[in-house]
Amino acid sequence: MNRYPDVKVYPIQAAVLRRKGGPLKIESLGMEGPREDEVLVRLVASGICHTDIDFCDGWAEADGAVVLGHEGAGVVERVGKKVKEVKRGDHVVLSYQSCGRCRQCRSGQPAHCQHFWGANFGFQRLDGSNALQGSSVRGHFFGQSSFATHSLATERNLVKVSKDLPLEILSPLGCGLQTGAGTVMNSLKVSRGASIAVFGTGAVGLAAVMAARLVGAGPIIGVDIKPRRLQLALELGVTHAIDNRRQDVSAHIADITGRGVDYVVETTGEPEMHRLAIEVLNPHGCVALLTGETGTDSLPEGRKTLGIIQGDAVPQKFIPKLIKLYQTGQFFFDRLLKFYDFSDINRAIADAKRGDTIKPVLRISEV
Ligand SMILES: [Zn+2]
Ligand SMILES: [Zn+2]
Repeated sequence: MNRYPDVKVYPIQAAVLRRKGGPLKIESLGMEGPREDEVLVRLVASGICHTDIDFCDGWAEADGAVVLGHEGAGVVERVGKKVKEVKRGDHVVLSYQSCGRCRQCRSGQPAHCQHFWGANFGFQRLDGSNALQGSSVRGHFFGQSSFATHSLATERNLVKVSKDLPLEILSPLGCGLQTGAGTVMNSLKVSRGASIAVFGTGAVGLAAVMAARLVGAGPIIGVDIKPRRLQLALELGVTHAIDNRRQDVSAHIADITGRGVDYVVETTGEPEMHRLAIEVLNPHGCVALLTGETGTDSLPEGRKTLGIIQGDAVPQKFIPKLIKLYQTGQFFFDRLLKFYDFSDINRAIADAKRGDTIKPVLRISEV
């Protein structure tokens, strides 16, 4: 029996992953929805995050065809009858999903949701159902699968935003930029005058750099293997840049600070950089691992590592804060963005993989 007789099926287009490493192919699919707690969003833009690319490269045929994308932004097209926060026509930015019912969610820490993995990487709703019809393609990646013309979100993973700002600029706030800035401001609570090194100056690392500058940290040391990215890092707030292909990172940090650093934000996921992060850390310092690893507090002299998810951000609070900082010229993340047509998604991914584009944003439809 159909438990949701009033749920319609909408024709959508989505970039489907059916082969390891891609290419993604834009296909016509049917998507049911919205259910009573869901919101159907017509996507205007979507950022591409490294997690999308890692998924694409790590995909296996046994995983089945899926739709990726988790930095969507768009216009609300239809809402389920229990939805209160948004209505048709509202502009929204989409972020990560959470269950809304577990202890962590109820205590205001959705990034620590007990069902985080299932809600974001399960490619289904938490009840096991899937809104995509036929052709055995699964969606619901991060509660959105935004490499598509339409997404099904919920109130927990959407943030209503002003219609005065372009959605294509706001879209990457939902994951990468929130993660980098939130790590510095929420997770580490970096204070004025603290020294910090950011390993990897991609979108997440550069968001951490801009946040570190905002809170008055210093020195702010950027480490990367791409001279062009280090140049941009210097423009965005890094006080010292180290090319770790040519320079000895720990000797350089010792020269700059006279010892080590109070914080390291590690975004590269390279085991060598993980080791180096601990090596350059001051006593009682902290390494933030933004790479899916868990942390440990059993290091000598009070040093610790912390595995961080989404910068401990509550999207409905933190994304409006970042937007305000952008509007007042303090968080100029628009400098990281490069725009592509939706049909050029594979070129956008290739450019990001080579490091030529820091944050690709797909233009999916007109507002
Ligand atoms: Zn939860
Ligand atoms: Zn992401």
